[in-house]
Amino acid sequence: MMRTVKGYAALKPGATLVSHTYELPEIAADQVDIKVHYCGICHSDLSMIHNDWGTSEYPLVPGHEIVGEIVSVGKEVKSLKVGDKVGLGWFSGSCMHCQQCMDGSQHLCQTAQQTIVGRHGGFADYVRGHWSWAIPLPKDIDMAKAGPLLCGGITVFNPIILAGVKPTDRVGVIGIGGLGHMALKFLKAWGCEVFAFTSHPEKKEQILNMGATKVIDSTNPDELKDIQGRLNFILNTTNVTLDWNSFLKTLAPKGRLHNVGAVLEPLAIPAFSLIGGEKSVAGSPLGSIALTRTMLDFCVRHDIYPTVEEFNMDEVNKAIKHLEDGKARYRIVLKA
Ligand code: NAP
Ligand code: ZN
Repeated sequence: MMRTVKGYAALKPGATLVSHTYELPEIAADQVDIKVHYCGICHSDLSMIHNDWGTSEYPLVPGHEIVGEIVSVGKEVKSLKVGDKVGLGWFSGSCMHCQQCMDGSQHLCQTAQQTIVGRHGGFADYVRGHWSWAIPLPKDIDMAKAGPLLCGGITVFNPIILAGVKPTDRVGVIGIGGLGHMALKFLKAWGCEVFAFTSHPEKKEQILNMGATKVIDSTNPDELKDIQGRLNFILNTTNVTLDWNSFLKTLAPKGRLHNVGAVLEPLAIPAFSLIGGEKSVAGSPLGSIALTRTMLDFCVRHDIYPTVEEFNMDEVNKAIKHLEDGKARYRIVLKA
């Protein structure tokens, strides 16, 4: 049986989204269909609408921070049933037989399906994925706020694990937007002292209320001089070019500057700013399926959710403009 889906699509790069109806073929044995309840808006949705990365295909239905309910399962799906509440993020399938998949790092599968690349995402009433990437949601989770955890959340949670951040560490987050404010909340709950770097001074009070020790202008290298050599870990969530060398100087020896923001220009990093203090620069995409489940449990345990602004799905263009204007506080969620 085919499924008719009603979504919102960009028909060409940068276009306003319009209503778009499409058919999904009969469900495959290893797939599930999800009725979308809520879908966050990530900056990557904007980049895909504008084809900033050259991977967009049109019509393009954005949306990859999805929570909803299983409405059909393929005949080989054993772990999920109709009615289960699940989340779907940037990835919606992986080969399940390559070295990375067998190692539990399915997010590093070189043929992983990306929810809004060459297929349609969550600004729609239904979305389809491989059963493995439909992440079961903990029973007590707040569905209205959980969507952004499936992309933004896991993207900033994974680096904390990868870098082995300790509760005794002093850390920094650059860019307190959708990803950055979740990183701040995670690192605070982790036990760290957190420095927030922002270009919007009017966010200061809210950022302090989220748990930051100090709020610093991310665009003024002079302000970074006071904290030279002090941070063990910095997470960059912006997609712009900043004075990376000044940020490297704020790292303590053995510190790591970890990048998840999709900065298009090459990072200008002098070798000597890494060599003397055994410092490193790293990056990562999302996180594994197992780590996403662990993160959701951590969120429920510590009551960590993004701070959300809710719009109805049919207000999607207004919501996109709000994000593009830098006004989102701090993550927009569309209600289906
Ligand atoms: P967002 O909500 O728009 O936040 C980005 C933040 O960057 C802004 O809130 C702002 O923070 C800062 N910023 C923007 N323009 C700036 C400028 N000119 N100078 C200094 N700071 C600036 O975006 P998001 O959804 O968090 O996504 C952030 C980035 O991560 C995007 O590039 C997105 O594509 C990428 N991403 C990557 C992955 C991955 O797997 N690695 C996953 C998801 C998203 P302040 O107001 O605090 O300055
Ligand atoms: Zn995203």
